[in-house]
Amino acid sequence: MTAIRYELIKTCKQTGARLGRVHTPHGSFETPVFMPVGTLATVKTMSPEELVEMGAGIILSNTYHLWLRPGQEIVEEAGGLHKFMNWDRAILTDSGGFQVFSLSEFRKIEEEGVHFRNHLNGDKLFLSPEKAMDIQNSLGSDIMMAFDECPPYPASFEYMKKSVERTSRWAERCLQAHKRPNDQGLFGIIQGGEYEELRKQSARDLTSLDFPGYAVGGLSVGEPKDVMNRVLEFTTPLLPSDKPRYLMGVGSPDSLIDGSIRGIDMFDCVLPTRIARNGTLMTSNGRLVVKNAKFARDFGPIDENCDCYTCRNYSRAYIRHLIRCDETFGIRLTTYHNLYFLLKLMEQVRQAIRDDRLGDFREEFFERYGFNKPNAKNF
Ligand SMILES: [Zn+2]
Repeated sequence: MTAIRYELIKTCKQTGARLGRVHTPHGSFETPVFMPVGTLATVKTMSPEELVEMGAGIILSNTYHLWLRPGQEIVEEAGGLHKFMNWDRAILTDSGGFQVFSLSEFRKIEEEGVHFRNHLNGDKLFLSPEKAMDIQNSLGSDIMMAFDECPPYPASFEYMKKSVERTSRWAERCLQAHKRPNDQGLFGIIQGGEYEELRKQSARDLTSLDFPGYAVGGLSVGEPKDVMNRVLEFTTPLLPSDKPRYLMGVGSPDSLIDGSIRGIDMFDCVLPTRIARNGTLMTSNGRLVVKNAKFARDFGPIDENCDCYTCRNYSRAYIRHLIRCDETFGIRLTTYHNLYFLLKLMEQVRQAIRDDRLGDFREEFFERYGFNKPNAKNF
């Protein structure tokens, strides 16, 4: 009995994108889906009720951060992450690997695991496949991620090959160390950078271990968008069609659409919440920087095509004022809108798959958003 089950509803005749449903111990959600990021067991400034109201079926939390604060024992004692944070829908936790490789100053990778210093106080720490499973078992997330190495971009073929092989050995150790396979589904992560041969090797190694889902890792790490799309084009066909496919760390509107077209079902990114905090918004007509002086007397909504709580009730001028004064309520309003915008975008993507017109939808969306213009911003 596996904790996670994927149901394919249909494939878009125009693009090959998949409409599906992922079943978890904490409810099911339709895919392709965007997962808001709640790093420290909270999606910054949003209450769980607000996330439910905007239609989030799954959120992501970070193992590394929760391990440091408040610590796995406290979350376990609270009855797990769902109870601790009062969220009864699905949760995915990463393995901590990405943070170890991106945040910590000193690190030493060995076969056993990674030695590093904690980014808060410099204490020496050690994370291994077994420890990453132990922490995630304490957190009780519905979907856990295998502990992998996240090589930088670009990396040489030789380095990447060694890294892929180590990640495969670590994946096997993760499966063995995972103590709650009936309550929590463990996903494997395909690495290999931009090298097709290594992606093939990684996919072969990991699919032979029969995980209930697979992630494509090592993308959105600074490579150009056409590299990401090309890697997805040769990687997703290597993954089993009866399991969910998760593209890690991707959340710009164009990449959500282009990833869906290439067979991805799940996405996460801090982008919408991070840019919201300095007043950058995603709208149906493109990116909007609400702090700009031209909005000082603009009493219209952030996005006239949006029916979110923010756009129904507050003006650009008011939100500009709040953000300029560092008022928390301003950040709440921009965060709400950006998350709502991406969750609605994925609803539109799913509808377009139902109607076999995701290719047409992409063209219309890119045109309106300005992605077709030369020098278009990424979000
Ligand atoms: Zn809105």
